[in-house]
Amino acid sequence: MAKEKSALDKFDEYKYYYATNREQQTLIDKVVLDYPAKATPYLINLMKNSEAIRKQYLPSPLESKTVGSAQPFEEGKHSSKIYGLERVYRDRVLLTPHFDCPAYCRFCYKKSRVMRNHPEMTFEQIDAAIEEISKMDEVRGVLITGGDVLVNTKKLFYALDRLVKLDNIFEIRVGTRTLLTCPQIYTDKLCDRLASYIKVDVKNPAKSKSLAMNVHFNHPDELTPEAIQSASKLISRGILLRNQTVLLKGINDDIKTMKKLFSLLLRNRIIPYYMNHCMPVEGSDHLRCSVQKGIDIYKNLCTESSTIIPHYVYAPSAGKVHCGVDTVLRCEKEDGLSIIRTEMEYTKDEFLKLTKKKTLPPKHECNEKGHIVGWYLDGNDD
Ligand code: SF4
Repeated sequence: MAKEKSALDKFDEYKYYYATNREQQTLIDKVVLDYPAKATPYLINLMKNSEAIRKQYLPSPLESKTVGSAQPFEEGKHSSKIYGLERVYRDRVLLTPHFDCPAYCRFCYKKSRVMRNHPEMTFEQIDAAIEEISKMDEVRGVLITGGDVLVNTKKLFYALDRLVKLDNIFEIRVGTRTLLTCPQIYTDKLCDRLASYIKVDVKNPAKSKSLAMNVHFNHPDELTPEAIQSASKLISRGILLRNQTVLLKGINDDIKTMKKLFSLLLRNRIIPYYMNHCMPVEGSDHLRCSVQKGIDIYKNLCTESSTIIPHYVYAPSAGKVHCGVDTVLRCEKEDGLSIIRTEMEYTKDEFLKLTKKKTLPPKHECNEKGHIVGWYLDGNDD
């Protein structure tokens, strides 16, 4: 406890790191009232030598000037009456047993829930969610996410014990950033238990069940010996690690950093899986470059071995949109804001059926083919 306290004291010393005067300190005080700052002792130590990590975790006065929204991507929230069970897509659902994180990323698109003590699911709610998932014929995968459920293994294992027994579920993913925030939690016992949910059926491969972890590294500075050691423990037990990177202005929005990051991941057996455009959440404007800048980086990655190329996506409220080398963005100006309009893969009818909503998300439309035309607030490269 004493150790934890002294680490928190040190984090307080960093609170005004990005303030250059009293006025900016006041802005930070206001920002953290809505969106508190938090980091683990391990991260605080890493921050000493990494501007890339500091920018992701320390509050900035720039967060007070924002055009982002508090909840840019929460359409799946009302798809079920069961708290913590969400659905936006045909073949997979989200389960969020624990809604807090050991450290708060300033650009988190769920910050209005993660940073505000939203209650975790009760065991009864997890039971009800599993029961509902078992009846979803088209669903074959579950992503257990949060928050970061690795800090509540009691709830995680409770859910996994039940999910792995469902006849319709074959692909289970666990989303976590703990390889960066607290890699020391990965004891042999924890890794063995996680690996126990992999069920490969060599006689009948169609019945095999996989457990993968969606990890989250954004910069080469984050791939520390401790992180790689814990990642190796998981991988050596057969757990697939797939990395989701958020494209962040001034942190990794350049070809050199991205190439280095994805090469390092690959040579340490972590698959570069997604490069996500930073969502337009409140307080993240200064960390958001344009979607086009991400396409330019993606195009350059495509000149390298295909093994280091992740999917590049941005996400209007109605779901992810994949970019390719030949993507041409439809950019518009609306009240001074840069907007991207895009025809999405899902039709309006299917989206409303899956999310159990009566209307499309704000500013989204339906075209003559019945497909959703998404609305996405772009970043800028100033
Ligand atoms: S680890 Fe993920 S859920 Fe937690 S604060 Fe960061 S982005 Fe949000």
